[in-house]
Amino acid sequence: MDSSFLGQAYQHPAPNILADVCEQAATMNDVIDLSVGDPDFTTPLPIIDAAMKAAKAGHTHYTAAMGMPELRQVVSEDYNHRFGLNYQPTQAMITVGAEHALFIALKAVLDPGDEIIVPEPCFSPYIEQVEMCGGQPVIVKTKPEDGFAITAEAVAAKITPKTKGIIINSPNNPTGMVMIPKQLKALAQLAIDKDLLIFSDEIYYDYVLSGHQFVPMAKYAPGNTVTINGFSKSFAMTGWRLGYLLAPQWLTDAAGMVNDGVTFSAPTPSQYAALYAIQHHDELAQPITSAFAERLHYLETTLNQVDWLKVSSISGSIYAFLDIRATKLNSVDFADQLLKKAGILVVPGLAFGKAGEGFERLAATQPLATLKKAVAKLQQAKWGVKQ
Ligand code: PMP
Repeated sequence: MDSSFLGQAYQHPAPNILADVCEQAATMNDVIDLSVGDPDFTTPLPIIDAAMKAAKAGHTHYTAAMGMPELRQVVSEDYNHRFGLNYQPTQAMITVGAEHALFIALKAVLDPGDEIIVPEPCFSPYIEQVEMCGGQPVIVKTKPEDGFAITAEAVAAKITPKTKGIIINSPNNPTGMVMIPKQLKALAQLAIDKDLLIFSDEIYYDYVLSGHQFVPMAKYAPGNTVTINGFSKSFAMTGWRLGYLLAPQWLTDAAGMVNDGVTFSAPTPSQYAALYAIQHHDELAQPITSAFAERLHYLETTLNQVDWLKVSSISGSIYAFLDIRATKLNSVDFADQLLKKAGILVVPGLAFGKAGEGFERLAATQPLATLKKAVAKLQQAKWGVKQ
């Protein structure tokens, strides 16, 4: 037996640049790794303690399939208090990370051949997930000259009778764009008029730079929005694998039905960790998010002084998206040269779709002192630049 036994999609898998970079990062010493979007902070100690305490007290069993009731309650209350929304605890479902939340929500709504509009550049699992759920991703290319904005007009142009929804991500990975209320409102109106769901990945909602504001999609179209979020970024909890969705009740219920056959419940100690985290949201998240804000501000200002480089304006997230088009290199070759000649690992923009070509994503997941070293190396770099 060999790999020809596998399902067709896995016999000749499409290249996965992001996975390749992660694999490379794991094997290399002595590189400045700016590739993976995993905050470099260890989870704050009180969160770890809360999980340990719960596990020692015997909370080592399954929880209710939809998540611990008290966690569903605080997650919905947190959104309600912050943003003036009106979620009931039953509308929240606790999942094994945000990625899992998106998957089960998509699975719950897609029939074979249904279309989901995905603006690119984007977090690449969006495309895979739509396909795994039998759907058809329909790409909308956003443009650097528009600040990679997702506009209702561009989305409207891609709607067909098969369109069921759109996936948005603000603050955005990889571009650092944050949608403004006017854009959110226009998209909300479109979704309401055309009966579409908006899958709104808000995992970077705490990562907004000063002068910008995060507003959740559910503010404008609560009946058409599936809010996807989690604990990985705000509380540096990637390894705990904990996220959630907030959706209209009928959809949360259906996502639960999907998940009964997949993971049943999310890890119990992680749910206790998350409960503590969200109950102490601001005091725990703020030191992490402000460190990233300082790093991104540093990257944006210093890298924009390099004459062959531009940084598209960063409003939020944990990434800088570097415009390398002046080098005339494609994003994969540039990343390769950067690694070999300067020992800096980044993710080529192509990993986020064709609209990311000509860019590199730098994750600010290293201390400022390390970022300063990386910038010094980049400032000296001349490779491939037309002199
Ligand atoms: N959405 C986006 C936009 C991300 O960048 C990431 C992590 N890189 C995730 C979701 C995954 O989140 P989680 O760890 O909660 O699955």
